[in-house]
Amino acid sequence: MAEFCRECCVEVWGRDTGDLKDLCDESTLASVICEGCGPILVDHQGVRVERFRVIEEREGKGDALLGSYKSLAEAEHWLTHYLNHEHNAYLVDSEDNDATHK
Ligand SMILES: [Zn+2]
Repeated sequence: MAEFCRECCVEVWGRDTGDLKDLCDESTLASVICEGCGPILVDHQGVRVERFRVIEEREGKGDALLGSYKSLAEAEHWLTHYLNHEHNAYLVDSEDNDATHK
C-alpha cells in the first residue's frame, strides 16, 4: 500500500488521507518512507519535518524556529548566517529525542 506524507497526499489525492498520521506522539517524530518523498521524518499529524532545524534562543520568550533544512551543511550555513546577524541561534537534529523542543 502506498503511503504519503500530508503534503504528498494533497498533491496526489487532492486531500489529506492521513496515511502517516498518529505514528508517534506530539513530542516525537516518526521515521517513515513516503511514496512521494522517500525516507523522511513526520510529526504526529503525518506532516513532513526537515531533519535539521535552526532555533533562535530568546531570553524569557521561549525559542523560535528560524528555519528547517534537509542537510546538515545547509543548516550549518544558515546557522552561521543567523549568528552573524546577532541572533542567538543553535542547531537541532530532529533525530535527537529533544528535537521538537521549542
Ligand atoms: Zn511526501
